[in-house]
Amino acid sequence: MKLLVDERDVSFILHEQLRIEELCRYPKYSSFSRDLFDMALQEAEKLAEKEFYPANRDGDRQGCRFENGKVRAPDAYHRPYQHYCEGGWLAMSDPPEVGGQGFPLVVANACVELFGAANWSLFMYPGLTHGSARLLEEFGTPEQQELYMHKLFAGEWAGTMCMTEAQAGSDVGSLTTRATPLGEGTYLISGQKIFISSGMHDLTENIVHMVLARIDGAPKGARGISIFIVPRLRYDVDGGLVDNDVACTGIEHKMGIHGSATCSLNFGENGKCIGYLLGQEHTGMRIMFEMMNEARLFVGMQGLAQGSTAYLHALKYAKERLQGASAERMKDPTAPRVPIIHHPDVRRMLMFMKSSTEGMRALLYLAAYCIDRVRAAQSEEEKERFKGYVDLLIPICKSVGSDLGFRVCETAIQIYGGYGYITEFPVEQLLRDCKIASIYEGTNGIQALDLVGRKLTQKRGQLLKNAMAAMTEILERIRTNFNMRELVGIYEEAQESVIQVTKFFALKGMTDEFQVPLLHAKPYLDLCGDAAMGFLLLWQAHLADRRLQEIYRDHRAGDARAQQEILKNNRSAAFYLGKIASARFFINQVLTQAHGRARAIMSNDKSALEIPEYGFSLG
Ligand SMILES: Cc1cc2nc3c(=O)[nH]c(=O)nc-3n(C[C@H](O)[C@H](O)[C@H](O)COP(=O)(O)OP(=O)(O)OC[C@H]3O[C@@H](n4cnc5c(N)ncnc54)[C@H](O)[C@@H]3O)c2cc1C
Repeated sequence: MKLLVDERDVSFILHEQLRIEELCRYPKYSSFSRDLFDMALQEAEKLAEKEFYPANRDGDRQGCRFENGKVRAPDAYHRPYQHYCEGGWLAMSDPPEVGGQGFPLVVANACVELFGAANWSLFMYPGLTHGSARLLEEFGTPEQQELYMHKLFAGEWAGTMCMTEAQAGSDVGSLTTRATPLGEGTYLISGQKIFISSGMHDLTENIVHMVLARIDGAPKGARGISIFIVPRLRYDVDGGLVDNDVACTGIEHKMGIHGSATCSLNFGENGKCIGYLLGQEHTGMRIMFEMMNEARLFVGMQGLAQGSTAYLHALKYAKERLQGASAERMKDPTAPRVPIIHHPDVRRMLMFMKSSTEGMRALLYLAAYCIDRVRAAQSEEEKERFKGYVDLLIPICKSVGSDLGFRVCETAIQIYGGYGYITEFPVEQLLRDCKIASIYEGTNGIQALDLVGRKLTQKRGQLLKNAMAAMTEILERIRTNFNMRELVGIYEEAQESVIQVTKFFALKGMTDEFQVPLLHAKPYLDLCGDAAMGFLLLWQAHLADRRLQEIYRDHRAGDARAQQEILKNNRSAAFYLGKIASARFFINQVLTQAHGRARAIMSNDKSALEIPEYGFSLG
């Protein structure tokens, strides 16, 4: 049994739901075909299974080591990292002009799910490197691209994103790292960054840091921030590499992702750290924002990937672990012990994990597909429309992927029982590793503020209206399927709840109760996430139902008994039935709660705002 990702579900989403082969009609992707997409996935799976996965546990146990100012990544990481880079995976979705393979992002992200499920800590290193390379691709001068970008896309050098400082976490605008102009685009950098992933390690010879800093005299706050390329080793006048005065002062000891080095960095301790301005002065935040969509989607993928493998591990365990008798014979001490998958409560947990994972996968792949449509668009109108979908989807993807992924990992532990809590079994590591996804790349609270404060208000709410119009078009097709009638009804009620809360927020935003939308932004984001996943699962159920009816027709299985017979032997039919079950479970068990959640938000309960601070506890 495969334990990383359900490849049949991946194929279903890519080919039957999103029909990504149609991307090949665009000039940008015309050299690709379904065969090439599938081949890439197969190769990714091999590398993930054979090299990334075996290094996962070792990396967790050994962790990173900090000795004499140097950081060593886990020993087991070196080989798979090298093979990943040699295979050209790092630049899989980047254009051939920068050394990439030009695949659609949706295919590259399906590979991300495999690598991430196998070993997220290891995957952080190329993940951060890719982000830095993309910044250079979009905003670097030809000279900067020549010096750094190609080496980053090849994985020869690594990259980082250096934003956080002790006093500047979510509030990046209060950072104090300084950049003193030296002329010709060079600056003297001085300051301390904390929590920098891959800030120092021995997987590559050099590391190129993307550092947010304030040029002397620049305005306070986010508007005064610029971004700089700060290599650990910089080129001297002769073209040799010399030390650039970037010191690692320590690594964090943390709950999970032990194999990923989380570093404190001192820039310019000796006054010799040179940074090179990327883009224009004071545009650091704008540049970061431009790249944020991909980075946030990447973090959402972490939750999905780890939830995916947690589900498959738990499923395997539930089929093997014998405990108790079946419900029919539970009072009979002579009854045979059954695998725990026979117990209704365990099946409920498995269905929660299955439907959540499939819903997240559909949501996150859809976002990647929309990014591809932006990249491939042949008119401004098409580009703007898909960009609108992406902007709306990203905070939901990041937050839902990480939060729900965590809950799926937690449920895996529950299914394992006591063994799930023991380090000998893999699911406790998944839970520890997964937690960080709701915190970095903008906490999920900040994602909710982005959704409510920026995305909903952009273009007078047009982003949401456009998305709903696109969904309605698909819904009209689903409505023609009699078997989906009940599920469509529940989905429409949930959609109405989203609309009602959106209007409620709009009204509150115009009064002195403007804090109410901020108070409920996260529950609102969760509501939108459930509605979006419910919609995508409903769409899947409709497609699966159509395919299932075809299979029954092909086998002339007219009545229920004949259909049962087919399900016993036909894996394809069982898969489609499983898809319908996922949608039914999610829509009946989760989406039916939408109305109550909307009611809670609109109850006008402001207790959390009104309670005095000492009211939380006198102690
Ligand atoms: C393992 C790890 C890896 C990391 N990797 C990197 C990296 O590579 N590069 C990098 O630059 N940083 C990195 N970070 C830092 C990470 O991005 C920050 O921790 C995160 O942005 C939150 O900042 P903070 O920890 O200072 O929390 P705070 O900003 O202090 O937030 C604490 C709480 O307050 C809430 N909060 C804060 N402000 C608001 C507000 N205005 N409205 C509502 N709620 C608010 C937050 O949501 C959170 O719940 C990493 C952190 C860790 C732990």
